[in-house]
Amino acid sequence: MSKPGEILLEKVTKKFGSFTAVDSVDQVIEGGSYCCMIGPSGCGKSTLLRMIAGHETLSSGRIKIGGTDVTTMRTGERGTALMFQDYALFPHLNLTNNVGFSLKIHGVNKAERKERSLEMLERVQLAQFADRMPSELSGGQRQRVALARALIMDPQVLLLDEPLSALDEFLRLKMRVELKRLQDDLGITFIHVTHTQPEAIALADKVIVMDHGIIEQAAHPRVIYDEPHSPYIARFMGGQNVLSGKVLQSDGQEILAESPDGSKFDFAAKGPVTEGDTVRFSVRRDKIHVVSAARQDKNTLKGEVANVEYQGTFVKVGLNTQQDDEFIIYMDDRAYFENPLNVGDEVVSEWQAEDVCHLLGDNNSSGD
Ligand code: ATP
Repeated sequence: MSKPGEILLEKVTKKFGSFTAVDSVDQVIEGGSYCCMIGPSGCGKSTLLRMIAGHETLSSGRIKIGGTDVTTMRTGERGTALMFQDYALFPHLNLTNNVGFSLKIHGVNKAERKERSLEMLERVQLAQFADRMPSELSGGQRQRVALARALIMDPQVLLLDEPLSALDEFLRLKMRVELKRLQDDLGITFIHVTHTQPEAIALADKVIVMDHGIIEQAAHPRVIYDEPHSPYIARFMGGQNVLSGKVLQSDGQEILAESPDGSKFDFAAKGPVTEGDTVRFSVRRDKIHVVSAARQDKNTLKGEVANVEYQGTFVKVGLNTQQDDEFIIYMDDRAYFENPLNVGDEVVSEWQAEDVCHLLGDNNSSGD
């Protein structure tokens, strides 16, 4: 049995001429969960969202919401509401009439429209401004009106296309908390498209990372961040260094690999590898220690300090190493200022095998 608001995507595909914007996407989004879709510009997030909303037809595949096949259903019939990036409020209508607009279209009488619109404005803490026009509101207030308007028809699923992008940093963080609170209160499914990794990690029960029309990884934010599936996810989500080495030995459980400068690394295997293969793995930037001489015979990397940036709660140290990717360490600020580093210093960095994630897939990055 499907839960209300559960979304099932089966081989969902969208082609624009010969270009495939969304490529055979399969996914289940649990009813009543908060899902964030993230990926570089042009990867197909908005197209997928619009297909769920019914604003875009599918080239092939199927979408079910709460167990009902909605693939060919009209927008207003599928129990979804879409909140647009620019809010699209009607400038000539006051807040009550903006929020109650869909009720009017559905023939709800004036008195009931007013009552339900006010209730919804109450929910987003704007009832005191019910008679104002949108131009008399702040950006954050306008966003809350757009939310109230999207929610007035009691959708099972609320679709949000970059809902916080028009707000300044301070307001964005505040509204982020409000969105989560609202989703908890309503218990409906939220699907939120964003460009911002911290936003996806902070809000979502499930993060869907897309690239070139496909889903690269879909999982709880902690899994996405801590156990990236591929080099692309590790780089895109940030907070990780991507390293590579040649496999010296593997018993299927553990891998021992070596980099060209002779450094050896060991970590848990996530998939089969053979001796001589090049493997890639990620190491959390905040789990790396800087020492003047190696204290262990594995999981160390030598480098020259290339740059140092104080970030307030930690210090970001960039090293030049023999690896292809930039190698970055997030040092505890107190530890750093006890033993500050200078550009040009030769240092050794080291970490534990459990802070390493074996990366599968050979894609490196999106063209973004
Ligand atoms: P952004 O984060 O920049 O909004 P996105 O991941 O949401 O990007 P989409 O808007 O889904 O990307 O677009 C995916 C791809 O499909 C892009 O290459 C875009 O140019 C293309 N595309 C979208 N709509 C159309 C259209 N109506 N006709 C032709 N191509 C389109």
